[in-house]
Parts: sequence; C-alpha cells; structure tokens
Amino acid sequence: MTETADVVVVGGGCTGASVAFHLSQQGVRGVVLLEKGALASGPTGRSTAIVRQHYSNEVTARMALESLRVFQQWGARIGGSCGFVQAGFLVGVREADRPALEGNVALQRSVGIDVRIVSGDELRRLEPELYTEDLVAAAWEPEAGYCDPVATTTSLADGARARGARIVQGRAVTGIRLERGRVAGVETSAGAIAAPAVVNAAGAWAHRLAAGVGVKLPIEPSRHPVCAFRRPSEFARAPMIYADFVNQFYMRPETGDLCLVGSIDPADAGHLADPDRYNEGVDLSTITDFGGRVSQRYPALERGFSRGGWAGIYDVTPDWHPVLDAVEEVPGLFVAAGFSGHGFKLCPAVGGLMAGLVTAGRRDERLEFFRADRFRTGRLIHGKYDYSIVG
Ligand SMILES: Cc1cc2nc3c(=O)[nH]c(=O)nc-3n(C[C@H](O)[C@H](O)[C@H](O)COP(=O)(O)OP(=O)(O)OC[C@H]3O[C@@H](n4cnc5c(N)ncnc54)[C@H](O)[C@@H]3O)c2cc1C
Repeated sequence: MTETADVVVVGGGCTGASVAFHLSQQGVRGVVLLEKGALASGPTGRSTAIVRQHYSNEVTARMALESLRVFQQWGARIGGSCGFVQAGFLVGVREADRPALEGNVALQRSVGIDVRIVSGDELRRLEPELYTEDLVAAAWEPEAGYCDPVATTTSLADGARARGARIVQGRAVTGIRLERGRVAGVETSAGAIAAPAVVNAAGAWAHRLAAGVGVKLPIEPSRHPVCAFRRPSEFARAPMIYADFVNQFYMRPETGDLCLVGSIDPADAGHLADPDRYNEGVDLSTITDFGGRVSQRYPALERGFSRGGWAGIYDVTPDWHPVLDAVEEVPGLFVAAGFSGHGFKLCPAVGGLMAGLVTAGRRDERLEFFRADRFRTGRLIHGKYDYSIVG
C-alpha cells in the first residue's frame, strides 16, 4: 500500500526542520520530512550561524528580529537548545558606505532593532583589538549572537516529531509526482508517498528537484570557505561578531579561543560548485588570504595561527534573497530555498510563514516580497550595499 502524508517537506536543514515544526504546531498531523542524508548534513551544518539584524530592507530586517526573539527564548518557544550565544555585532565602514550604514540603522531602529552608530573612542572601547584608523563609523547591535546550527535543526525536528511529524533521514526524494498538473506526492529512494502538498526546502539542490516538474528556480550553488584562527594569548577577550566592508570579510568568535572568518565579497558567487562533489576543505591560499584580511583589522591575529577550516555551499539567487512561494504552475508545490548564504538567522520566521502559506494560503506582504516571479518581472530586491550576504 502506498504511504500517505498531508504535507511532505523535502530537506532536513534548518529551513525544512522549521517548516515541519511550524506545520505540526499549526495542527497539521500528517507531516513527513524527508532528508537524503542526516539532519543538518548539508550547508546548515557548515554554517557560522550568525544571528544579526543588519539588513537594508525592512521586510528581512523584521524577519531577522522576529527570529532573534525565538533564538533568545528557544527552550520555551521550540524546546531543546539552539546554543545561542549573545556576542554582539559590529559592522564597520569607510566614508563611501557611511550614508548606507546610517540609512540602514535608521530603518532598523524604526522596526525596533536595538542598534546604533558608534565611532572613535567608543568603538575602540567596545572592541579594543580593532584597528579603527580607516573606519569612519560602525553599527553596533548588542543583542546579536550566533547559534549551533546542528542543535537548532535537531531541536526543531524533535519539536515537530513530538507534535506528530515523521522525520525520516537517509531517504532521498527522487521526483515530485503530478496528477492532472497538480502535486500528488513524491517518489523516493524507498518508494512513493502520496501527498497533496510538497514543500521544496532542498537548499542547494532545490532547483534540481523543481526542474523535474518543469519549474525553473534561478539558484546557483557556490562554494564558500570558512577559516578558523586561534587567537594569541594577548588577545584579551573574545571579540564580537564583526563584518568588515573595507576588507570584505566577516568574523565570529568560537570556543577554544578561535575566530571563524568568511568572505562577503559578492564575486565569490562565481565560485560555482556541485553540492554533491566539491572541495569541502580549505587550501593554503585561502587561509593566507583570509588571515591577511582579518589581521589588517585585528593586528593581534598576526600572532595567531591557523586551525584549518571547511567549505560549504550557498544557494545563491540573482538578488541574494530567497524564494518563499507557492508555485502557481504546479498547485500543491511550495518553495523555501535560495537563502544565498544568510538563511540560518531567518529560519524561525521562514518556518512560520511557509506553514501559514501551506495550510491557509496566507500570503502576507513578506511573502509578496519573496515571490519567484520577481526574477521574471525584474522586481528584484535591492539592498543598499554591494556586500553579498549583507543585503
Ligand atoms: C559556510 C557558510 C556560512 C554561513 N553562515 C551563515 C551565517 O552566519 N548566518 C546565516 O544566517 N546564514 C549563514 N549561512 C547560510 C545558512 O547556513 C543557509 O542559508 C541555511 O543553512 C540553509 O538551510 P536550508 O535548510 O534552506 O538548506 P540546506 O542546509 O542546504 O538543507 C537542505 C537539505 O536538503 C537535503 N536534500 C537535498 N535534496 C534532497 C532530496 N532530493 N531528498 C531529500 N533531501 C534532500 C540536503 O541533504 C540538505 O540537508 C552560511 C552558509 C554557509 C555554507
């Protein structure tokens, strides 16, 4: 007999787990999440999982704030632990980016984000190891932090399971089944499942799954390395999370006196990669490059040393924002993918929005913003900066 479900969620990263959690919380009983590997075994598990609200559009800034409140109250709202550490966040700019920074901070404050501009002595007091001579200003978000992305995904999945969902690992969706043009279920590596609704939360693989039913998602997987550096002993205290527009990197502290460093150069989207076959490590030239960039800003790190690193995949869309949508050509098919390297921090809000869309066809203004047809009509989401993930 064919298995059945009310909703099949494809993908066990933070997005799929959050969608499954929120569907179950909203009372959908027959939720089945299918993950081809293990939960968070894809890009989610390689994420630096920084939770900041610095966005230059109101919709995403509001979603980041809503999600921050969930991360802060994880035990009570979701259950388990997301490992949230409130480290604070600074983004430093030179003159060319000052107007955009000031505009963004005003926008963020207008939606309730605790952020303000700092400079000079105050900036040096906040972050004593920072080289500030070429920075005209910084935005400071004291409430920002970072999480454990695997614990986050696992606890969302546990919460979904506790509310009746089935979480199945090691089972790949090999195709979406259609009957008379609408979703009828999925084919999997272990037999078919009949279902009237499928949520494609397959991250860097989402465009392939969609292509199987003739739906084009403009997602390009690209490779993004993260390097770990051990701080020298004179680096007095753990730094805040920091994004640097001058040298185009971000950095966050990690346990073991480490700093994790990645790039925010939008040209990195050109490093196209097959998510099933790519170099998952970091090579010496990347370590040297990232080490050079970060130690220009934190000179003490010149006396630190490399602890290697890893590489993950971003699912990049043309405007660096996700598709959160019901696919009009294929009734019953939903997409939550294309997070372009900044989707971790949004996963609580995204799960709630997608669950509302699936169960009630609820399409509030936020979902209008993330519709797939923007790539056809040219209504792309424009940020005030050109720094990829900081859209
Ligand atoms: C190095 C790196 C650093 C990052 N840092 C940050 C950060 O600091 N802050 C932030 O907000 N975001 C960050 N991100 C981005 C963030 O991690 C991602 O946007 C987010 O994790 C995407 O989650 P997802 O669930 O949508 O997709 P994924 O994590 O890609 O999950 C999709 C899952 O679907 C599964 N799957 C695919 N196809 C199938 C199929 N056919 N059948 C069954 N299962 C399937 C895959 O195995 C995978 O587990 C970073 C990403 C990387 C790579």
